[in-house]
Amino acid sequence: MEEELKDYLVIPRKLISWHPIIDTTKCKGCRTCVKACKHNAFSYDESEKKAFVANPYYCEVFCQSCQFQCPEEVISFPDKNETKKIFRELRKQYPPK
Ligand code: SF4
Ligand code: SF4
Repeated sequence: MEEELKDYLVIPRKLISWHPIIDTTKCKGCRTCVKACKHNAFSYDESEKKAFVANPYYCEVFCQSCQFQCPEEVISFPDKNETKKIFRELRKQYPPK
């Protein structure tokens, strides 16, 4: 199911590099992340029996729920403080309405 890509606090979502990264060499294909994400960021490769990040920018900025739920601990995120810095710079270009 497709969902519309929304801006994040008036900043175009694609400018904010926050999304899960799966170490696919270690993913065991349990689908926990696919079920956990309510924003359809993940999809599942039936032939490889692994999850993959199909829609990285559907991920809710600063959510890390799937990372905490992955039993194999193979999901990571960009550095949160770096992302906050980028966010503050973007905020100057895209002030709140
Ligand atoms: S929760 Fe972790 S191990 Fe399970 S499918 Fe997702 S990335 Fe793979
Ligand atoms: S961090 Fe949250 S919104 Fe982002 S992919 Fe994981 S569960 Fe989905």
